[in-house]
Amino acid sequence: MNSHQVQQWMEATLSLIKENEETLSELDQTIGDGDHGVNMVRGFQAVVDEFPNWEQENLSTIMQKIGMTLLSKVGGASGPLFGTGFMRLGVAFKSEEGTWAEGLTKAAEGIAQRGKTSVGDATLLDVWDPVAKVVQAKGTDWAEVERAAQDGMNNTKQLETKRGRGALLKERSVGHLDPGAVSSYYLFHALVQTMKKGES
Ligand code: ADP
Ligand code: MG
Repeated sequence: MNSHQVQQWMEATLSLIKENEETLSELDQTIGDGDHGVNMVRGFQAVVDEFPNWEQENLSTIMQKIGMTLLSKVGGASGPLFGTGFMRLGVAFKSEEGTWAEGLTKAAEGIAQRGKTSVGDATLLDVWDPVAKVVQAKGTDWAEVERAAQDGMNNTKQLETKRGRGALLKERSVGHLDPGAVSSYYLFHALVQTMKKGES
């Protein structure tokens, strides 16, 4: 991945999140406070707006700047978690040998730590973790990444929410997709689209 592809990735994510802003907020209305769509649009809009200022930076620094921007601009509980994910990716890409497998694994670990959460708690980790695991096992097979992200997102529907505002609903949270898992799916779907474009 080069910095131009990261820019394309961020633009594709923003456009998906904008298209689905209402869906995200409605999902968050059901199990939270209804602001997830607005939060995510604000965060990724800031990343896309700031991107031109980062043109001279390397991939590692760009990823870290994305993380810091998401941390401060998304806000809510999810901002620091998306922020941690990108900051960890940035650290992994510091070295020439840094791989997606390493970066995504560190990102998922960082999210789990920061959110005090585990796989199966019906959060965005239920998308980040299976994506990390499939890349760890199979490398950057983008069709597999797409499937893992989609399955992870859909799986949150049958899970009881154990972290964040949704946890207040206890068993009534079952039957609803987790908003952060859905927005994470958009993020990885946009990554897959961007990387496939680069290969063709
Ligand atoms: P807030 O809950 O502060 O309103 P958002 O609505 O932007 O923040 O984000 C909600 C999403 O954040 C949830 O759908 C979930 O995926 C994620 N989330 C919240 N708390 C945690 C946590 N402790 N660990 C992992 N993910 C969490
Ligand atoms: Mg919310």
